[in-house]
Formats: sequence, structure tokens, C-alpha cells
Amino acid sequence: MKHSRILHAEFTAAAESLDHLPPPVSAEIAFAGRSNVGKSSVMNTLLERRGLVHTSATPGRTRKLGFFSVETDDGARLLLVDLPGYGYARRSKTERRAWGDLAEGYLLGRPVLRAVVLVLDVRRGAESDDLDLLELISDRPRVSRPPVAAILVATKLDKLGRAAQKPALERLSRALKRPVIGFSAPHGVGKDELWRKLRKAAGVEAPPGSPAER
Ligand code: GDP
Repeated sequence: MKHSRILHAEFTAAAESLDHLPPPVSAEIAFAGRSNVGKSSVMNTLLERRGLVHTSATPGRTRKLGFFSVETDDGARLLLVDLPGYGYARRSKTERRAWGDLAEGYLLGRPVLRAVVLVLDVRRGAESDDLDLLELISDRPRVSRPPVAAILVATKLDKLGRAAQKPALERLSRALKRPVIGFSAPHGVGKDELWRKLRKAAGVEAPPGSPAER
């Protein structure tokens, strides 16, 4: 099952505050997760560009939203948005506020946001910060827009033995009462399935019978 090819992927903007967001033009998909969970690796795998999305060297230090535009060979265009990692960043009240003002303001106030991909470590599952985030995106948005999909990705699947992978995913999915996509960045596992969900949420589904649909 192949998704269509990435024609072009590039970093287009960074925003340190809500006043500096780029104009809302294309559909946006935000990526969230605890620091070090593997979020940058999921994004780089989707963009087919190793190292395009950087991990912050000091966990929790990045207080910016990173915007990456992507264009596929069948004409789909969207923006993947890297949210600051949380966890370490949420230790102190001041840090929590800094994360909250920017990330929460973006998540609840962005009219073109269509989905949030929550990246989890398959070995750890959802922790309290992750549950907070899921609750946040189910809050009433501050702008009028279609519903924002929550897409759960359990990454680092390759760190579990083969026999343990499926049961771990099923356990996670049961606990969260939602489907969970198993992912492994080095092996590209889950990439096509995640692309299909992103495109559906962004309203840029591949035409029937195209390679992305097969
Ligand atoms: P971020 O802080 O959430 O953006 O995390 P990164 O994507 O930088 O990943 C953190 C660490 O986990 C790095 O050392 C990655 O090489 C490693 N990593 C990320 N994804 C995977 C994966 O799917 N499998 C394995 N084995 N390691 C991974």
C-alpha cells in the first residue's frame, strides 16, 4: 500500500508567539508529544527528509512552532506543524505557562487546523500530559472551524520484540478507546497509514484508483 510521492518538503516558518504565526492558508496538521518521544522522527519520516525537523538539543527548550510545507505528486499541499515537546517543559509553572500560551493558543485558535497527531512511546503509552493534551483538543475552539481529528501514533515499535508489538498496540488502543497507529521511524512502519489519515483529515484525499489509494 503506497501513498503518493513527496514532491517537495521545506521548513517555511517558525513562530515564537501567536502574533507571529504565518497567514492561515493551507490545511495544517499539528504534531505533539513529550520531549524525546520520537516526534521529530515521525515528521521526518512523513516528509521523507532526514533531519529536516530538528530535535531540540535540550529537552523542553524549544518554545517555537515550526511550520513545514509539503506537496505531493498528486497536488496535495499541507503544512505539518511541530509543537514544542512537553513533559520536561511542563515541570515549572512558568514553563507550563510558556508552553500553554503558545501551544494552547494555536490549538484552540487556528482556523486551518484539521488534525493533531499525538505521538506516544509504544512502551510507555499515554501519560498525564498526553491525556491533558487530548482533553485540550476536545475543548471548544475559539474560532469557527470543522472538528479537529486526534490521531494517535505509538512509535518506537521496533523497540519491542515482534510478538509483543500487536498486543501492546491493542492494549493502548483499548486504554485510550481510540485507534492507535503503530509506527517505527527507522523501518517506515505506519507511514502510509498515517499519511492516509492525515490526508483524510486535511480534506486532500487521493483520487480513487490512484497509487495512494491502493
Ligand atoms: P523528539 O524529541 O520527540 O522530537 O524525539 P526524536 O525524534 O528526536 O527521537 C528521540 C530519540 O529516539 C532519538 O535518539 C531517535 O533516534 C530515537 N527514535 C525516534 N524514533 C524512533 C523509532 O521509531 N525507533 C527507534 N528505535 N528509535 C527512535
